[in-house]
Amino acid sequence: MKPQQLIAAAVAVAALVAFPVAVGNPYYIHLVETIMIYAIVLFGLDIVVGYTGQVSLGHAGLFGIGAYTAGVLVMKLDASLWLTLPAAIAFTAGFGALLALPALRVSGPYLAMVTLAFGTIIQILINEMTFLTEGPMGITLTKPSLFGHRLDETEYYWVVVVMLLASLIFVHRVLRSHLGRAFEALRGSPVASDCMGVSVYKYKVYAFVISAGLAGLAGALYAYSEQYISPNTYNFEQTVLFLLAVIMGGRKTRTGALLGATIIVLLPKLLDDLGLFRIVSVLLAVLVTVAVGVAYQRGKMTLKDAVIPVVGSIALAGLSFVLQTMTDWRLSVFGLITLFVVYYLQDGIVGFVRNALNLRGHGATDADEAAQMAPSGDALSQATGRGDGGTLLEAKGILMQFGGLKALNNVDLTIRRGTIHGLIGPNGSGKSTMMNVLTGIYVPTAGSVSFAGTAQAGRTSSDIALSGIARTFQNVQLFGEMTALQNVMVGLHHTFHSTLPEVALHLPRYLREHGDATARAIGLLRFVGLSDLAGEEARNLPYGKQRLLEIARALALDPQLLLLDEPAAGLTAPDIKELLAIIQKIREHGVTVILIEHHMDVVMSLCDTVSVLDFGQKIAEGVPAAVQADEKVIEAYLGGQAA
Ligand code: ADP
Ligand code: MG
Repeated sequence: MKPQQLIAAAVAVAALVAFPVAVGNPYYIHLVETIMIYAIVLFGLDIVVGYTGQVSLGHAGLFGIGAYTAGVLVMKLDASLWLTLPAAIAFTAGFGALLALPALRVSGPYLAMVTLAFGTIIQILINEMTFLTEGPMGITLTKPSLFGHRLDETEYYWVVVVMLLASLIFVHRVLRSHLGRAFEALRGSPVASDCMGVSVYKYKVYAFVISAGLAGLAGALYAYSEQYISPNTYNFEQTVLFLLAVIMGGRKTRTGALLGATIIVLLPKLLDDLGLFRIVSVLLAVLVTVAVGVAYQRGKMTLKDAVIPVVGSIALAGLSFVLQTMTDWRLSVFGLITLFVVYYLQDGIVGFVRNALNLRGHGATDADEAAQMAPSGDALSQATGRGDGGTLLEAKGILMQFGGLKALNNVDLTIRRGTIHGLIGPNGSGKSTMMNVLTGIYVPTAGSVSFAGTAQAGRTSSDIALSGIARTFQNVQLFGEMTALQNVMVGLHHTFHSTLPEVALHLPRYLREHGDATARAIGLLRFVGLSDLAGEEARNLPYGKQRLLEIARALALDPQLLLLDEPAAGLTAPDIKELLAIIQKIREHGVTVILIEHHMDVVMSLCDTVSVLDFGQKIAEGVPAAVQADEKVIEAYLGGQAA
């Protein structure tokens, strides 16, 4: 942190701590307490929604589980805070794993449905298990004791402040670690995550578990805060509000979560008080009109785009004077706000402000810091046994059938260690399919693959990646919202062995691993000539640079075998020259390469052996010159071009 940031944070914390003493009004103290508790839920929900990109409408249910864990423990066992909070975290985290199961199979609207059903089932269970939960009657409890002293309203508020800060630091550290990068990689490209040895399966569950633990903690704090819990608090409206708060505040920012929590706590209060609502909606209408007016003046908005928010906000203000009661309109107002946010503020309020002020995200500053560290040694470790000619990979009788189509038909492929093996053939001949079979993305209909003497059958993509096969993709599969440096750091995920507590507490092993990985990532970026762009988001890089970044990320796996799927496609001539030099250097480091390529000059100048596929069958194999002169090959290519 920079000194200014540190001072700002200290001032904010001091203000938060001093608030109850300064204000004294229990109503406002409770309001701010609720905002803090919701913020803890939102930190967790943002991990799932903002980082891994999954939808969850089950978080009100998880929040309820946390609340009831604390409530039941207090009611049945008179348990202390030291037991209830950890128990709520652990128990709810377990349910998080349960909620993650559907996320492994479905996504999008289907996942929303399933998680919604989960929330509903939890609510029904709480309602029906009267022996434990007192059913619809609810549970009444008092503020907890700490060190034999019963906390009053203000003291409990401070407990919540401590928990908020602890959660904030925990979440922040986790998200900036290899775990956070794994979560974010899932959203960017699940296939690429798996092929970087970051198991999508494992980290989806992990994200849901951490997220649920936070919801559980918040639920327990909420139970003490309200001093009464009943099943219908954890309903559909609540779960929609949580999601709305993340989207409105802005994904992937803690400030956004705090802002979102504030909005969803204050909004219902606003809708309960018609007088206040009228004032606020008029202010909003003025604000929107002025903001849109300025944007239009500066030519940042067309007239058509500008009219809708102005008319909409004025209509809302008008409506507030026509209506006699707002309570019945709550959900409609939420709906309108959601629509507005989705349409105009896709990155949430915080994202919008950042864009407007041209502030850079944290990733960029990270990379700047890292770039100043001078990495020592070579980025690529020397692979052992280079060029000894032994067999590294052997595929036998591969058949890959998609319905009636045989994309690969009885293909054998032998790759010798230390060579560059070209794989060529017309479009649709099965080259990429072969890559997908070799990396475990497709399970072949028949045939076997063995790598470094071990059979690959039954292994997942991420296992195969970790055993030493890295790849790039024909359609670039970068983690778009992550910086170039972070993309390479995902490839270095396998170098991290730190556990969650080590990450959260910044213990020495984690700090060492982080430092080493950062230095290596910078080294790899330098290797492909991208060190100046380390802090740039991958999606903003020019196409040619994206291809090079994919190679750097693949090399981060420290592979024995590197698969390059048309790395020169779409590149300009100077870029291709640069690429050639890089592939040459990779070979010099003893990494074996399979190269799919359409540029014949590239294939001819680099490859030791070339295999030719046509309609899923291997039609020729040998040294480049011989293959180029082969009748069948010429015919396949001419035929391909004619078609
Ligand atoms: P290449 O990379 O040589 O251009 P591909 O391996 O991408 O060719 O494709 C070979 C054939 O397999 C094509 O006809 C393609 O349509 C088909 N194919 C590839 N993947 C799938 C899939 N997942 N489902 C159905 N057909 C596929
Ligand atoms: Mg292809």
